[in-house]
Amino acid sequence: MTPETLKGKKILIVEDDLSSRLYINKILEKTGAVLLNAGDGREAVGIAASDPGIDLILMDIQLPVMDGYTAAAKIRESAHDIRIIAQTAYSLSGDMEELIASGFDDYIIKPIFSGQLIEKIFQLLQPDK
Ligand SMILES: [Mg+2]
Repeated sequence: MTPETLKGKKILIVEDDLSSRLYINKILEKTGAVLLNAGDGREAVGIAASDPGIDLILMDIQLPVMDGYTAAAKIRESAHDIRIIAQTAYSLSGDMEELIASGFDDYIIKPIFSGQLIEKIFQLLQPDK
């Protein structure tokens, strides 16, 4: 992946753990994307509602106030084109079904690796997807 791969794209990072959020910001800063941050599900829903220019959301599942499933489902009600990636600590088959039902386009397993994250976002934001 070359630098500035995601130039001009607007990404909302939803993560309650501050060090994890800073880590993801650090990874994505190199891509040229515009980054927004939320620390819980309700905050994410509010930001998504007030900013129709968001291209993609990287959503943690375990969040205070409102969990990632609920937040993604609410955002999906009005933002049909937005891409939403779940970030989750582990993978179970039941989880995957719940993720898709909640409106997620894809998921990434923690710990997150920079190359994998950028590649996943890049693929999801291709115009033909
Ligand atoms: Mg969390």
